[in-house]
Parts: sequence; structure tokens; C-alpha cells
Amino acid sequence: MLDRSSRRVALISVGNELLIGKTVNTNHSWLARRLTILGYEVKVGLTVRDICGDIEWAFRTAIELDCGVVISTGGLGPTFDDMTVACMARAFGLPLVKNEEALRMIEEKYSAKGLPLTEHRVKMAMLPEGSRPLPNRVGTAPGMLLEHRGILAIALPGVPAEMKAIFEDHVEPILRERGPHIHIAEKFLRSVGVPESSAAPVIDRAMKVSPRVYVKSHPAGGELTMPVLKIHIQASADSVEEARGIVERAAEVLRTGLIKLGARVEEVSKL
Ligand code: ATP
Ligand code: MG
Repeated sequence: MLDRSSRRVALISVGNELLIGKTVNTNHSWLARRLTILGYEVKVGLTVRDICGDIEWAFRTAIELDCGVVISTGGLGPTFDDMTVACMARAFGLPLVKNEEALRMIEEKYSAKGLPLTEHRVKMAMLPEGSRPLPNRVGTAPGMLLEHRGILAIALPGVPAEMKAIFEDHVEPILRERGPHIHIAEKFLRSVGVPESSAAPVIDRAMKVSPRVYVKSHPAGGELTMPVLKIHIQASADSVEEARGIVERAAEVLRTGLIKLGARVEEVSKL
């Protein structure tokens, strides 16, 4: 069993746009839900501006709160206002070094488009000593993972699609492996005849069944011609029975709602 601090998470959202009301902090809510499903306790969410002192303060605060996991989003790009990793390094008292693996990842992305490595692009490979880059299959800036004095610190990009891809590819497997012992149940549905945009409110209702359920739809087929949705329902709980019960309740909300919209819904063994 993990001790309490290893389960305790601080989420840090970096970006002026979040604090002037321009962008809704969906990265926080998405990560908070995924972490809750994995059995972690989100202790605090800190939103700060693109100011190094403020970013450093957020990381120091997370360390002071004895959070075993710290995840930041935003500020990983090539421009001057992207400074999360450098400020995180300051909070941990670690030097920034050029990470050759990160440099290779970045070089590959740009050379595929015929673009050279510039000073700004090399900047994305400057990581705190001892950290490792996390491949970004959607965008260019790699994520970053650092284990230092019993703390797992992870920096993810601000762009939601990139943040989600790196989390699902590289962070979730680690958190799941070292996470608290929880039970996960899942179910897969296939819905034919209703576009994803019409199904969205039904999916939202199914997500409300429990804070520990996650419903993800994968469109297959044409949204307006022959809409097919593959739906993955996942829930966690302290017992298998409880997790299965939550999945069943979410599946029922989906089935009823989608059939009402004219869909044909069947359970499948996997996506
Ligand atoms: P880039 O390489 O695009 O600069 P980045 O990692 O530096 O990526 P930011 O510049 O901080 O990320 O954010 C890029 C975009 O992602 C923002 O314009 C905003 O639309 C979106 N974004 C950033 N943070 C969040 C958030 N917490 N919730 C939702 N969207 C966000
Ligand atoms: Mg940026």
C-alpha cells in the first residue's frame, strides 16, 4: 500500500490566458478526473501566470504540501513566455542541461517538415538534470518527467490534445503501476446511427453517474453519413463489484439515451 503522500497530487496550470478569463482550465478538470479514477488524491490545483517567480512558487508549494506527484500543464513551447521547465528546475534546485534524447525528438519533428534546429527549438530540449523527455505524438514540445527526492514531477504541454496524448501514452501507465491498489472495471459499447455531436450530451450524463467513471467515444465511420461510435466506459472503486456497478449504471444511461436518439447499441468485447 502506498503512503499518503505518494497518492497526493498537486496540479499546476500555467498561463496568463487562464487568469484573465480567456481560456477555461479544462486541463485541470480532465487531469483531476483521470487521477481520481486512478485512486490518487488531488490535494491542490494552482493556476499561475507566465512569470518565473510564480511558477517556481507553485512547485515549491506543491513540495511543501508533501505531494508525491506534481503535474503541470502549459508553457512548454519554444517562445520566451514558455518557461515552465526552467522555473521548475529552480524550485528543485537543479541545473538545466541539454537533453540529447529530447533534442533528437525535436530534431526529428522539425526535419520531417524540412525545418532546421534553431535556438528557440533547442530551448525545448533544455531539461532539469536527471529528467527524461516524454514523446509528444501530437505536437512538437516533448513532455518531461523527473523523479527527485521521492517526488514525481511531470510537465505537460498546454494544448489539450497534446497534454492528453502524453498523459495517456506515458504518464498513466506509470501512475497505474505505482498507484494505490484499486479495482478497475470496463465495458465497450458500439453505437450505430447517431453522430458523435448528438451523442455528446448523453455521454456527459453518463459521466455524471460517478466521479470515478470515465466515458470516451471514438468515432468510426462518417459523422453525417454512417455514424459509428465506439464507446469505452471505465470506472474504479475499492472493490470489483462496486466498479462493475458504476460501469453498469453508466452503460445504462448510454444505452437508453442513444436508443432514444435512434441508435442501435450493442456491447462488444473490445474497441
Ligand atoms: P505551445 O507549444 O503551443 O506554446 P505550450 O505547452 O507552451 O504549447 P501554452 O502556450 O501554455 O502551451 O498553451 C497553448 C494553448 O493551449 C493555449 O493557447 C490554450 O488555448 C491552451 N491551454 C493552455 N492551458 C490550458 C488549460 N489549462 N486548459 C485548457 N486549455 C489550455
Ligand atoms: Mg506556449
